[in-house]
Amino acid sequence: MKIGVLALQGAFIEHERMLKSLGAETFEIRQKKDIEAHMDAIVLPGGESTVMGKLLNDLELMDPIRDMIINGLPAFGTCAGLILLAEKIYNDDIVHIGTMNIIARRNAYGRQLGSFETNAEFSGIGEIPMTFIRAPYIEFVGEKAEVLSTVNDKIIAAKQDRQLVTAFHPELTGSTAVHKYFIDNMVKQ
Ligand code: GLN
Repeated sequence: MKIGVLALQGAFIEHERMLKSLGAETFEIRQKKDIEAHMDAIVLPGGESTVMGKLLNDLELMDPIRDMIINGLPAFGTCAGLILLAEKIYNDDIVHIGTMNIIARRNAYGRQLGSFETNAEFSGIGEIPMTFIRAPYIEFVGEKAEVLSTVNDKIIAAKQDRQLVTAFHPELTGSTAVHKYFIDNMVKQ
């Protein structure tokens, strides 16, 4: 199993480590030729969605990656990666990849709660640790998507077919459970 990790910016190394510990092979996506190789899934890491969105367009990666996901490539977006996959961003006209039937709200917790850790239930997994860093939450989940977890009444994880998004960073916790969930439910199918 070969999983491409978008490595333009942000916390991609931690994803690679976690995926490797679960037995997957990983490679980094930095330019157009990197997506010509066979890939069984793509991971979109946390970082800054505006920066990643601009780089995806400048490097001509945005349209091909969107097409691949529409055609069934499993995709896992964390934090900024969630924002990249959202069909709409609250109070913003920009859409990046836009394949998930959700509305994301950026930097949604305000200054005081900008970054925090908690434990919460994740549907199909159980209680897991969650690390939030200037995280978004999901303002609205459309009928094609399904809520997987909420924290303080805010939706923070969802899935849609072979796409998975979390507002938190599972790759920065000690638990590989969400990556395993992605591999088991979305990639190995
Ligand atoms: N605040 C960032 C954004 O809007 C996301 C933060 C993160 O990925 N840790 O893109």
